[in-house]
Amino acid sequence: MNVFIKEKSWIAKIAATKLRSNHCAIVFFNTIYLHSISKEEIINNTELLRHEVMHIKQWKREGAFIFLYKYIKYSFQFGYYNNPLEIEARNAELDANILKEIIIFKSKKR
Ligand SMILES: [Zn+2]
Repeated sequence: MNVFIKEKSWIAKIAATKLRSNHCAIVFFNTIYLHSISKEEIINNTELLRHEVMHIKQWKREGAFIFLYKYIKYSFQFGYYNNPLEIEARNAELDANILKEIIIFKSKKR
């Protein structure tokens, strides 16, 4: 599975502001958008990388439209922390299998 990483992303910066965090990673389709954290840092932070790769798997499993619909619906219903898609991603942080057959590319997207 191909995973793309985009550094210095404005969309991740907005998400970081919303979540009141000073660094942030956010996934759209197969790309991890980063703010205030480098590609090298996330690759060396295995748990964070597994978490974000799990979100990419969720996008693929659900399809983009259903994923976004569920993510937003669950966020209103349960909040960020108890959103079932976030719980699944947090559980993946300890699962070494998540990163099997993953190839990481630097994204040239904006
Ligand atoms: Zn998450």
